[in-house]
Amino acid sequence: MINRWNQSEADKLGDDLLALRVYTSQLQGKEEDLVLHGGGNTSVKITETNVFGDEEEILYVKGSGWDLATIKKQGFAPVKMERLLAMAKLQELSDMDMVKYQRTAMTDPGAPNPSVEAILHAIIPYRFVDHTHADAVVTISNTPDGESHIRQIYGKHMLIVPYVMPGFILAKEIYEMTKDLDWSTIEGMVLLNHGIFTFHEDPKISYDNMIRNVTLAEDFIQAKGVKTLPVEKAGAVNTLKLAALRQGLSQMNQTPVLARLNPSGQSVAFSNLMGCRQITDRGPLTPDHIIRTKRTPLFLQDDIEVEINAYASAYEKYFNAHNPGDLTQLIPTPQWAIWPGLGSISFGTSVSNMMIIEDITNHTMKAIHQSEQLGGWKALPQKDLFEMEYWSLEQAKLKKAGKAKDMQSKVAIVTGGASGIGKACVEMLIQEGAVVTALDINPSIKNQFGTASVLGIQCDVTSDTQLNDAIHQTVTHFGGIDMLVLNAGIFPKSMTIKDMDTNTWAKCLDINLTSQQRLMQLTIPYLELGIDPAIVIVGSKNVPAPGPGASAYSVAKAGLTQLARVAAMELGPKGIRINTVHPNAVYDTAIWTEEVLQARAKHYGLTVEEYKTNNVLKKEVTSVDVAKLVVTMLGSVFGRTTGAQVPIDGGNERII
Ligand code: ZN
Repeated sequence: MINRWNQSEADKLGDDLLALRVYTSQLQGKEEDLVLHGGGNTSVKITETNVFGDEEEILYVKGSGWDLATIKKQGFAPVKMERLLAMAKLQELSDMDMVKYQRTAMTDPGAPNPSVEAILHAIIPYRFVDHTHADAVVTISNTPDGESHIRQIYGKHMLIVPYVMPGFILAKEIYEMTKDLDWSTIEGMVLLNHGIFTFHEDPKISYDNMIRNVTLAEDFIQAKGVKTLPVEKAGAVNTLKLAALRQGLSQMNQTPVLARLNPSGQSVAFSNLMGCRQITDRGPLTPDHIIRTKRTPLFLQDDIEVEINAYASAYEKYFNAHNPGDLTQLIPTPQWAIWPGLGSISFGTSVSNMMIIEDITNHTMKAIHQSEQLGGWKALPQKDLFEMEYWSLEQAKLKKAGKAKDMQSKVAIVTGGASGIGKACVEMLIQEGAVVTALDINPSIKNQFGTASVLGIQCDVTSDTQLNDAIHQTVTHFGGIDMLVLNAGIFPKSMTIKDMDTNTWAKCLDINLTSQQRLMQLTIPYLELGIDPAIVIVGSKNVPAPGPGASAYSVAKAGLTQLARVAAMELGPKGIRINTVHPNAVYDTAIWTEEVLQARAKHYGLTVEEYKTNNVLKKEVTSVDVAKLVVTMLGSVFGRTTGAQVPIDGGNERII
């Protein structure tokens, strides 16, 4: 493991102890083999003078909800040492009381809740304390001879602590173990099945000790000739099976779930391991992962429905076996799956949760594979894992999420997503919690939205190959398709039927009609496996009220509208809704170049400005206005409506 200490960076911080604490916390947080997503915690003890002129020793400890990789000064909770040390002497303290008394011992009520390990940090008689869940340490510890290997590696310079539940019980255990200990004889502690602590007066030495001791564990693994997971190529993915899996899990979860096929070749190798199912059935890498990953993954082999149900009943059995009587069972949906030959799949009710699960399981697979070579993967007993999974303080971490948005974790495809109405639809859908595949011929689509909620794909909608590829990417990336917005279109320059050239006619029909029909057709099997699936067609006012010079465009949009009417009847029995919007005079779109705008205005004998608000309400219609209607039509407000055509044109006398 690389020691990332940079003396000149550290020198800039002078003797600002909290700044140094932030610095080495981030160094550890950025090392994925040490901590992942909120794991681990660090602290510094600082003597301060309060407003009454009294000196107080304050423990600045990582606040819950903060991540070591990105923590700042305000991420540390200041807690009075005197109170924490008094708490360590108590015989018993419930979790809730611990949280309450820690909070009342803070000198800043606006700071975050202190880490559940605050009392333990207070007991350790050194200024700087570092704690991580280093992969190498838990990899060795989670084997039958784990403890003796750990003792062999560390000799007497580390205190070895058998697994106990984190929080007050762990602090108490260590308080008792170290009562008569000469702390100067050790430079840290290894918590079996959990992680590692180092400490020192000097932040650099505490950090150095962390890196060096974790490296000792890594060296041990290497010396045993343990191999890392190779990179293997995935077989052909049955995307319909993946969509069916996502549908099943969403139904069980009673809210849409996203699913992502792990793109790493190492996950493929893991899925191909002999006895993979039995190995992964033993438990997670560290107990704190269980709230994210559950105890075991789903193993996909044959019938999805049977397998999901078997997972759920095994989970129920596990719950009933360990429930002390007063707990409510969590929804028994798996959080990740192994798909032999194809790798792992991560689930989540948001993209960020899903990506966290992918990160955690990547480390889990690597560690399990190494532990197998060190004598066999051996996770904690179910009882200990259950206690952690149903620990009120851990569950509280998950509850912060707040109320789910209307379209939370629903998956949409939007064509023509780079500009105008399409872009506005993409933005509004992600605002409502959906994830979106945005297709556009414009290559800027790939990085345009700058969020993991959007998969931007450059795509020529007239190419079947490219459409198929876009669908494949959508399903492997998000797990399925629930919504389709057929928006891509071109508006050729004004031309009478007499002057129409064959190419303009053919191209206009190809892009505005045929390619949209093809995408609809290719998407239907996935929509059938979608969650409240719906299609919205972006038509045009030209359908009910055409004008001269726009025959190709009007015919294409009229054809698309007719397609929607037939589709409403064909797809209705399968629960798929399809509705059409007919926008008019939306000028902030790619179609409306200045040239087209002027030509149309001139045709009606108006200025461009008059032309823009030339409707009954005298109001300009923008892309965002149309997107609002499109997203509403995709949602529950239109849950009982299909085959409808709704104008959005500020009121048009010819249509009214
Ligand atoms: Zn820990």
